[in-house]
Amino acid sequence: MAKTIIVSNRLPVKISQEKDEFTYKPSEGGLATGLGSIYKQGDNIWIGWPGLPVSKTEHRQEITENLKKESMRPVFLTANEIEDFYEGFSNETLWPNFHYFNQYIVFDNGLWKAYQKVNRKFAKEIAEVLEPDDTIWVHDYQLLLLPEMLREFAPKASIGFFLHIPFPSYESFRLLPWRRELLNGMLGADFLAFHTYDDMRHFLSSVNRLAGLGNSNGQINVDNRKVMVDALPMGIDYDKYAQAAASPETLAREVRYRTSVGEQRLILSIDRLDYSKGIPQRLKAFEIFLDENPEYREKVSLLMVVVPSRDQVGKYKELKEEVDLLVGRINGKYARLNWTPIHYFYRSFPLHALSAFYRMADVALVTPMRDGMNLVCKEFIASKLDQKGVLILSEMAGASKELSDAILINPNDLHELVDAIKRALTMPEKEQIAHMSVMQDSLKRYNIHHWVNIFMERLNFIKTEQKALE
Ligand code: UDP
Repeated sequence: MAKTIIVSNRLPVKISQEKDEFTYKPSEGGLATGLGSIYKQGDNIWIGWPGLPVSKTEHRQEITENLKKESMRPVFLTANEIEDFYEGFSNETLWPNFHYFNQYIVFDNGLWKAYQKVNRKFAKEIAEVLEPDDTIWVHDYQLLLLPEMLREFAPKASIGFFLHIPFPSYESFRLLPWRRELLNGMLGADFLAFHTYDDMRHFLSSVNRLAGLGNSNGQINVDNRKVMVDALPMGIDYDKYAQAAASPETLAREVRYRTSVGEQRLILSIDRLDYSKGIPQRLKAFEIFLDENPEYREKVSLLMVVVPSRDQVGKYKELKEEVDLLVGRINGKYARLNWTPIHYFYRSFPLHALSAFYRMADVALVTPMRDGMNLVCKEFIASKLDQKGVLILSEMAGASKELSDAILINPNDLHELVDAIKRALTMPEKEQIAHMSVMQDSLKRYNIHHWVNIFMERLNFIKTEQKALE
């Protein structure tokens, strides 16, 4: 029987090592939840890196056996591969280029070689289990070459690809010396989907400029194979966030946190440490807001969570220092004994803590310079059971295309941001509820399960079309 293989850089599991002992925890990410209904069925399987370097053969065997019980198969990467393929080419070349931070790109042929080698390693690992009629769903920017490599092994297989980050305009993408190979790698898929219509359009334009292929309604003819491209914004597991917001654990946490912070109104900011998230700009806007609106001092605090990420990469270390300095400067300038302007946390929180933060926040300030989608803003909306609260959202986040009921801002315009904060804090409750309910309806309907179903449906559709043409 044909099976479905999910492939992503990371497996949906967190493995920690204590000497020779390994412990396994399922990961809580949205993708893992959404795809759970698929990869755990029958012979289906999820293939990816287990998230830690494992050198001993007996450890590798043990991990492989344990993961097999959970329908997962590991691709082991060496410490060098992690450095050059993952931290290097994926995060220091593709990530900045796809997010329009082109001055941050590292151009290094050695990293490119590692990227090719690791994509090939994934392909070989998949080939071990691949049968001709299988369906393979490849995820994200670490594996752009994989669809084409898989097609060599299984020319008839159904191959889908989803990009979780933006696809840049041709003017950005063309800067990469390896642009053709990357594009051809992606075109090995039968169905490619992106978060937004703009990402899709940018991809089609690069296909046109680099491969000389036009499209008709998002369909491209690649070596006599019909390939379909579409926009398919990823949703969240709405019920999970709505239920968490109603759970006794969240409510107990909210009571505890409230006792600590007092009755101040709260503006919430949650991101991974990343230059694409616009954290320094957000802090500067909050500083100007306090400066220009003294009546809000002691009345409003910013609750800022920054989740440590990629801290081995130079640009991220610099960013961390910049954020630390700004928080220190603003708190130093405005704090009172009874009021802290910014409650700053450089760590990650479990679901129920986040849920309590979402509930407590009057305003969510989500202002990335560039973001493929942004799930934090969607989780905030799903957690607002009383429908009170205001979302300020950057136009540069994929989510802004769906959430036009948010206050949309350009994160480069600090004054627009300052005005938005004021508008959010003074918005009448009736208006808050009106906007929130529209956004909730849409996120409830276009949830993660809907996203998975539509992706699979479209992939099946294009395969059927291809067969009809044979
Ligand atoms: N998140 C988390 N713990 C935290 C802060 C954030 O698990 O302490 C989660 C958050 O709930 C969201 C994800 O991290 O699901 C961030 O996803 P998003 O798309 O907003 O940004 P990304 O980090 O993928 O660029």
